[in-house]
Amino acid sequence: MANSKFEYVKAFEKEVYLLPETYMVVRVDGRGFHKLSETYKFEKPNDLNALELMNKAAQSVMEKIPEVLLAYGDSDEYSFLLQKNSEIFERREAKLTSTFSSTFTAYYNFYWNQYFPNSPLTPERLPTFDARVVLYPNQQNVKDYFSWRQVDCHINNLYNTTFWQLILKKGLTPQESEKRLMGTLSSDKNEILFTELGINYNDEAEIYKKGTVLIREWEAKDDSPSVNERELSKRQKDRLRKRFKKGKIQKYHIDIINEEFWNERPWLLE
Ligand code: ATP
Ligand code: ATP
Ligand code: MG
Ligand code: MG
Ligand code: MG
Repeated sequence: MANSKFEYVKAFEKEVYLLPETYMVVRVDGRGFHKLSETYKFEKPNDLNALELMNKAAQSVMEKIPEVLLAYGDSDEYSFLLQKNSEIFERREAKLTSTFSSTFTAYYNFYWNQYFPNSPLTPERLPTFDARVVLYPNQQNVKDYFSWRQVDCHINNLYNTTFWQLILKKGLTPQESEKRLMGTLSSDKNEILFTELGINYNDEAEIYKKGTVLIREWEAKDDSPSVNERELSKRQKDRLRKRFKKGKIQKYHIDIINEEFWNERPWLLE
């Protein structure tokens, strides 16, 4: 179809090529999940199956897109960190974000029945996800990005846990519960949970408090691509990278705000 008289319209297309040598983080987020979680009767404040389905979809994305080194998720969102020098899709932004949102959406829908066998999907409300990519120029920005998401998870979970327990255990209406929490600090919510509701927030499940981290792990850590890579030939490097791409994906519910997390896994930010 080359050189037809219609071909000039191709010139109207505009590509955004993402800045080279910067970290790319893609975040997907469920569309209208406040409503969707009501339609399919998610348990409040935390539906464990819904979280595990998010984790399954994210892990599937990592298996399909080997440039992803790390993923962090909570609620209806997941963030994916790509290799700094990745040339995925020639760093074309639209290609990258649309592929992440559609791949995530496809797996989420595909696995739905396994996690919600008694709540079949209806075409009136199918789960879909948007995606955006953000560029970060240095390692500190990347660490701070993931800290920001994990702190957000913690703040939302503390609020939601207190909000829903006031409704479930004390019989408050949602409006009353919201009013009761207006202007409260984290310490106040911890106190309400402990003295009024008999809940020690520290005892809540880690997956709720910390979210989920998926890491492409490197079995023998001394062997990670960051180690002595400068001394390797290009062929050796390529071979090492290929093996790394096949590395296992591990799931954790741990603190990613501290420096140890990153220090123990230097290949994530190389
Ligand atoms: P938008 O389309 O703008 O993202 P949204 O309704 O998805 O709107 P979010 O800010 O993304 O709003 O919030 C997601 C909402 O989905 C949460 O506030 C919560 O009500 C619900 N939700 C997500 N995951 C769970 C879960 N595992 N258990 C219970 N509720 C959940
Ligand atoms: P990219 O990921 O870059 O889009 P691609 O393999 O999808 O790569 P396209 O240029 O989008 O490449 O071409 C789509 C290809 O899919 C066609 O060339 C054809 O081989 C195949 N295809 C699509 N629809 C049909 C169909 N209905 N019947 C048979 N083959 C099809
Ligand atoms: Mg959402
Ligand atoms: Mg969200
Ligand atoms: Mg195609």
